[in-house]
Amino acid sequence: MGELQENTTTSSSCSDTNSSDQEATARKLILSRYELGRLLGKGTFAKVYHGRDLTTGESVAIKILSKDQVLREPSMADQIQREISIMRLVRHPNVVELKEVLATRSRIFFVLELARAGELFARVSQGRLPEPEARRYFRQLLSAVDFCHSRGVSHRDLKPENLLLDHNGDLKVSDFGLSALPEQLRHDGLLHTQCGTPAYVAPEVLRRRGYDGAKADLWSCGVILYVLLAGFLPFQDENLMKMYAKVFRADYQIPPWFSPEARRLVSRLLVADPVKRISIQGIMEMPWFRKPFIPRALSLSPVEVGTGAGGGEESVGSPRFYNAFELIASMSGGWDLSGLFEKKRKSGTVFTSRLPAAEILERLEEVGRGLGFGVEKGKGGYGVRMEGREERRGRLEVVAEVFEAAPEVAVVEFFKISGDALDFAKFCEDDVRPGLKDIVWTWQGDDGGDPATAHRPVMGL
Ligand code: AMP
Repeated sequence: MGELQENTTTSSSCSDTNSSDQEATARKLILSRYELGRLLGKGTFAKVYHGRDLTTGESVAIKILSKDQVLREPSMADQIQREISIMRLVRHPNVVELKEVLATRSRIFFVLELARAGELFARVSQGRLPEPEARRYFRQLLSAVDFCHSRGVSHRDLKPENLLLDHNGDLKVSDFGLSALPEQLRHDGLLHTQCGTPAYVAPEVLRRRGYDGAKADLWSCGVILYVLLAGFLPFQDENLMKMYAKVFRADYQIPPWFSPEARRLVSRLLVADPVKRISIQGIMEMPWFRKPFIPRALSLSPVEVGTGAGGGEESVGSPRFYNAFELIASMSGGWDLSGLFEKKRKSGTVFTSRLPAAEILERLEEVGRGLGFGVEKGKGGYGVRMEGREERRGRLEVVAEVFEAAPEVAVVEFFKISGDALDFAKFCEDDVRPGLKDIVWTWQGDDGGDPATAHRPVMGL
């Protein structure tokens, strides 16, 4: 660890010499803030170590990059900037959180949420997973991907090696180094950089024509689902060109042990033509995806769901937190969800509330008007349409829907009908969250500002 025998400073203050830090490095300290532990893994450009926050005692992962290497490759500096901005944008329970970025004269340190249980890849390399376990990971993956797409971010390198597991066995998507923000779109609205890992890369990306990053991510999700259920890759050949040819034709065999529902879902994901490939909304409607959790979970507190020792189908390390996405995904029959899955709508903020739907609707109208929106109640009386705020990039039109998931739990979801994705994301963050925080019970997919209170009731109901 000679590499840490240097002065340390924050990227913002940049005064490099500090003798106490020199002493601290003997204990492998960074800025007297974190103590470095064992090596967790190596990526293409970085090493990742276990770390401990000396103030809070919290364990973290610290990713270390060499500045020289970054400066040698001009595109890498851009990539790192991008990684930082993307990780700040996509805070979600199934995305590895970037806590802070520190730097010395020669190194950059990314302080990350620790995914203690390591790579999902290691789990799969021991053998294929039972369908309920694969489904649980796949739902969490899709929740993260859906959230990222709603923020205009496509990952572009989704593969089991980039899917980590935390101490609860919950999935965390990592490695946003190759992700793309909308600024990278050319005037045709498509991405043009070829990246990713061949076995997981969508045919349209390999073809080097423009591609839709979100659709390409769904192809990778299809490959991941296949790998989880099969224990091997769908497209393999010793000869890379032959492998590409198989990818172009979506030429793969489904093993006989896949259930008919799993077979149907995989065959809708691994479709060579991105236009015909299933959408996230479509996936959420598929029987395999919607297969229920342990039914009794619905009557438990949405904050704490037990580990299901009683042995329901989804008992394999059931999630601590039953988020709204999983709540919706796990419901089959009984409720009409069609309104939530309409095509062409860009989903944004989702939260649960314990107020009656009528009261929530009133609050939504009130807040919408307060923000200067034209507000109209939906026909079925379950939603509110907010229209007309002229933004820099066009007029934003939003629908907020209230869905009573259980007698005391309503799920509220904001969709963009028209307008710019980033304006919508900003609206969700800057207007919806503060404006409605007093009626929110749990936020889905984000920390709501204070990680300490994330996903806990903020109302004493
Ligand atoms: P990366 O450079 O992001 O591909 O990371 C390289 C390896 O380090 C990964 O494959 C993991 O094994 C490990 N790693 C990365 N991030 C974390 C994290 N947040 N928690 C635990 N291990 C990690």
